[in-house]
Amino acid sequence: MIDAHIHLEKYDNLAERIEKWQAAGIEKVVAVSNDLASSYRTLELKTQYPDFILAGCGFHPEMPLPTHADFQEWLRLVKSERERIACIGEIGLPHYEIENLPASLQTYQEFLVDCVKTAEEHHLPVALHAVHDKAKIVYEILKKETPSLSAHFHWLKAPADVTRNITASGYFVSVTPEVCYRERDQQLAAMIPENQLLLETDGPWPFQGPFTGHETTPLFIETIINYLAQKNNTSPHFLRQKTKDNAWNMYGYLK
Ligand SMILES: [Zn+2]
Repeated sequence: MIDAHIHLEKYDNLAERIEKWQAAGIEKVVAVSNDLASSYRTLELKTQYPDFILAGCGFHPEMPLPTHADFQEWLRLVKSERERIACIGEIGLPHYEIENLPASLQTYQEFLVDCVKTAEEHHLPVALHAVHDKAKIVYEILKKETPSLSAHFHWLKAPADVTRNITASGYFVSVTPEVCYRERDQQLAAMIPENQLLLETDGPWPFQGPFTGHETTPLFIETIINYLAQKNNTSPHFLRQKTKDNAWNMYGYLK
């Protein structure tokens, strides 16, 4: 099993944890980053656990934009570490925090263009945070600026027509543990073609329903698989293999 989106650098005691996760069948995680310092930390983890981690370097869009100096340093980091990076992410547009952020949505859109062009230049896929009405804007930026870029819309929440456009373009979409207890995410899961579905925890983000009070870890992936298998009347074994193949198609051809 692969957790296709997690903030691994936010966890402590990783040696112990990873051993436990691997014993439970988690083969890899896509570890995304939130800023320059976080990108460095993720790459340090990649050094420690090279086979377990697919490293993403990026700037979380629900945070203040990086300084010019930080972005320039990050560009140099991506260039020098290119062979150890699996994706540019997490990047996208702000939605939840937009009222509290100092820059305009327009400025974030321009920054996103810089990020997707960087991904294209290095032949890297992108892990996207693009939710609600921002999903359409991000989709249109991809189509206009980098139409051949491979992209993963993580924890997507979007109007049905936008979701259809995203999947028709071949982009990957992931569901989180929320799919086990929230109708909105169940409807989304039903719209994602079998070959484009990824599973993620966005850990350590906390979940509710059957996960209330439990720390989010990649071990939740198995619960998602069991839930979806039952719902879709298919076998957990099939879904485990399919979503793993999908993650491999999206991220795995790079180290
Ligand atoms: Zn995330």
